[in-house]
Amino acid sequence: MCSVGEGVQNPIQRHVVVIGGGVIGVSCCYELLRRGLRVTLLEQDAAGVARRGSFQNGNYLNSQWIPPIANSGFPREFLLSLLGQGQFLPLETSASEVLRPRFARWTMHLFAQFLPGRHDALAAAGSALAQDTIARIGELRARHKELQELPFRQGVLTLVANEKEALARAKEGKRIVPGPELVTSEPLLEPLVASGKVHCGAVNATGLSLDCHGFTERLHRICAVQPAMRTLFGARAERLVLDDKSERCIGVALQGGGEVACDDVVVAMGCQARQFLAPYAPRLPIIAVGGYSLDWRPSTPVLKTYSKVVLLKGLGIAQENGRLRMSGLVHFGGGMHHAPSGSEAARIAGLLRDRVLTRSGLDLAGVLPKPGDDSCNPSCWACFRPCTPDNLPMIGHLPPLKNLYVCCGHSFSGWGWSLASAGLLADAVMVNQGEGNLTSSVDPNPFIPTRFSCASWFDKLRSML
Ligand SMILES: Cc1cc2nc3c(=O)[nH]c(=O)nc-3n(C[C@H](O)[C@H](O)[C@H](O)COP(=O)(O)OP(=O)(O)OC[C@H]3O[C@@H](n4cnc5c(N)ncnc54)[C@H](O)[C@@H]3O)c2cc1C
Repeated sequence: MCSVGEGVQNPIQRHVVVIGGGVIGVSCCYELLRRGLRVTLLEQDAAGVARRGSFQNGNYLNSQWIPPIANSGFPREFLLSLLGQGQFLPLETSASEVLRPRFARWTMHLFAQFLPGRHDALAAAGSALAQDTIARIGELRARHKELQELPFRQGVLTLVANEKEALARAKEGKRIVPGPELVTSEPLLEPLVASGKVHCGAVNATGLSLDCHGFTERLHRICAVQPAMRTLFGARAERLVLDDKSERCIGVALQGGGEVACDDVVVAMGCQARQFLAPYAPRLPIIAVGGYSLDWRPSTPVLKTYSKVVLLKGLGIAQENGRLRMSGLVHFGGGMHHAPSGSEAARIAGLLRDRVLTRSGLDLAGVLPKPGDDSCNPSCWACFRPCTPDNLPMIGHLPPLKNLYVCCGHSFSGWGWSLASAGLLADAVMVNQGEGNLTSSVDPNPFIPTRFSCASWFDKLRSML
């Protein structure tokens, strides 16, 4: 029988219910089991784990991750995006959407991140989570053969338009690949280099690609064979059941009837967390930022060398199982509340093709599927990124209930931060219940769930005076 590893501590009979079987929820189950806790995972989808945000994401991991929204150039980019000229491709963002009360409050929090030194602190916190996650993935792969079957691909290639940009990239420490060499390493890019629009490539060696959905499914299988683990698929958590004093959760009520009793509850339901938690805690500032991917089987050879080719900032193509996937588009308003289907999928595929071509000025005709050509079997997918204003997740105890925890809001990097987040979450459960010590090497403070509360801001201001 597979085991969750050597780290399992003496079994404690505490029973934790984890709500949400995405990459984060499954990682939390794994870390909680390792600490000897009993775990029940509730997943609303009957089909299995990782069917939402963690399904067809970009599969990208980077040990030096910089928060993509709260970066120092963001205010300018944001305004340009609203005017339709930004690097992000906000497909439907409009001023009226951005000014909606919910979104406006989030935006206010976002702009509060641009205090001096704040960006560096965010980037350091994000990188610490990413490095720890990559290390933990490595350990898991060493221990479980089924995880080794998923190929790791390394190196992210960014297309560079001119010499000035190439110099800037070289200063950042990127390896520069001259145009002719680029064509040898990635024949797919030949038309772009030939057109003269692409001068060379810049390689970021810290970028990796690994199938998030495949990994999560396999990790769940590893957990599921543990006697202390139970998974209920098709089980949608409707509300928490509280004790008489409304101080603790004693169970989770399911839609359609039934209850699961518990000692602790971990909410790991991505974008749904805000709404679900609203009756029990101050509203968490999480917005659903739409993201799209277009997936197709190319007629020309697929990527030969790199894990990902970045065409425009935040928009890249990666390879998975012989298919190419373009992902990274951002729909900033968060106004789309369903996955695209039928004509909407076709519209998004069209936008990807046309707007990317127009904005980039690149001749991608040989790379992207041709309109109406179904021989490459294109498919379009959309989902939401659970975004916080500082792009860092919320991990830990969520007062005022004494035994409620969250691990959500992983924004653009849920896969890249998954296992480290789960390590912090499991530490928080153990420490809060007086049953363990901090084991993670990552500082938990940047991820405290209440960091956006008024009290927390007053404390920050006081410390600055
Ligand atoms: C297009 C796109 C590309 C991306 N690319 C990358 C990338 O390259 N690298 C990276 O690191 N990140 C990427 N991300 C972000 C990453 O996918 C997310 O941060 C991550 O998937 C969030 O995981 P999660 O487990 O919190 O949420 P989810 O995967 O959405 O999981 C939440 C789970 O909770 C379940 N659930 C919800 N409500 C309930 C309920 N009431 N009861 C029971 N179950 C419930 C859902 O069914 C779901 O399974 C991308 C996202 C998108 C959209």
